[in-house]
Amino acid sequence: MEKQKVFFFWFRRDLRLEDNVGLFHALQSKYPVIPLFIFDDLILESLPKNDARVSFIHDSLLKISGKLQETGSSLLVRKGQTIDVWKSLLGEYDVKEVFFNKDYEPYAITRDTAICDLLEKNNIVSYSFKDQVIFEEKEITKADGLPYTIYTPYKNKWLEKYRSMAPVREYDTETHFSNFHKSSFVFPTLKEIGFEESTIKVRSHNLKFIVKYQDIRDFPALDQTSYLSPHLRFGTVSIRKLVNWAFHKNDVFLSELIWREFFMQILFSFPKVVTHNFKSAYDGIQWRNDEEDFKRWCSGTTGYPMVDAGMRQLNETGYMHNRVRMVTASFLCKHLLIQWQWGEAYFAEKLLDYDMSANVGNWQWAAGTGCDSAPYFRVFNPEIQQKKFDKDGIYIRKWIKEFDFGYGEPMVEHAMARDRAIATYKAGILK
Ligand code: FAD
Repeated sequence: MEKQKVFFFWFRRDLRLEDNVGLFHALQSKYPVIPLFIFDDLILESLPKNDARVSFIHDSLLKISGKLQETGSSLLVRKGQTIDVWKSLLGEYDVKEVFFNKDYEPYAITRDTAICDLLEKNNIVSYSFKDQVIFEEKEITKADGLPYTIYTPYKNKWLEKYRSMAPVREYDTETHFSNFHKSSFVFPTLKEIGFEESTIKVRSHNLKFIVKYQDIRDFPALDQTSYLSPHLRFGTVSIRKLVNWAFHKNDVFLSELIWREFFMQILFSFPKVVTHNFKSAYDGIQWRNDEEDFKRWCSGTTGYPMVDAGMRQLNETGYMHNRVRMVTASFLCKHLLIQWQWGEAYFAEKLLDYDMSANVGNWQWAAGTGCDSAPYFRVFNPEIQQKKFDKDGIYIRKWIKEFDFGYGEPMVEHAMARDRAIATYKAGILK
């Protein structure tokens, strides 16, 4: 039987039909477009069976699949190693062209290079697009073409460039939906993928508070931030629509979205930051790396309420408020002298919004080893942070049920830990 001539659009971290750049271009096709998602064994094998992110991906794909069914199409979902899946698709279809949106993480770059090589060997053209950021790779650089490593000048250049083109183009995919391949692929259950439903859920995002964002964002008890992070991570929200909207609403909020792109371009330009200090002069620090201390930090039993509440929020919900992320991360690196990579890995395992660039960037910021990071001698005092940002203890009581019934002693005394951290950093920083 003659194989069907088709185009493919491959979903990855862009799980939406609307304003999706790669999908828009695929749908301009002369052949029907098969929308595809691959559950990648190489990623899945390291995750627990009830991983909340896998549940979220599955839910998001189900929504896409439902909308596709209304157009007479359906989503093709496969599971396996991506290279094997593509080899088998090439056997099943006469694939003419393949479209996808770029992903800038090191593993994704290696994976995509291998797939594009395979396609090229089979005389198939592939196209990749910028979709998850406003400005990517080398679009915002210093005058000499080198990447910025300091946030403020990066932000200024970013804003200047954005203003010159605002609003950025949004892509009207809907008018081309008739170009989807007509099909009724069976949508697999989570169980069939080898996973089970998580009790932890991604919340809907919320932008009602936007005008007063700068006044409320630092107070975890108010719980009034956007909750956009997992949606931006998995692309269930379009960054172009969001930025075009936020640009007129709140500069501080927009700055946070620019931090996201700053860390993405740092990861792209300096991939070593995934495992190594951005500042190699900090490589000589003698971390204590005490495993028992690490366990207490992970379980939220350090005796510092602000730290413990944050870790318990993370363990129970897959989320932690940004202010508290800063406090817990600083505590691990400075008070306990545990290297940032341990904390980064723990957050990566737990966070619903885990994003390599933001996680590594912020952890290195807290540890003082990153670009444009907090100076090493700035050691957050968790008690002062609590007085400033949760003075009535509302956040703390929410996550530490036993708080009012006699809370344990701090595992390490602040003044001693602070002096020890500063001395250790000072001795370890290479001149
Ligand atoms: P909002 O305050 O509403 O901010 C809006 C959006 O701006 C966020 O969704 C996010 O996309 C972006 N943003 C805000 N702050 C930052 C920041 N400091 N760096 C980069 N982008 C930012 N964010 C992640 O998305 N994934 C991570 O893995 C991650 N790890 C972190 C680890 C540490 C140690 C720290 C201190 C911060 C980390 N952040 C991470 C940044 C920040 O804490 C979260 O983006 C934010 O708390 C998410 O909540 P929100 O969407 O309600 O944020």
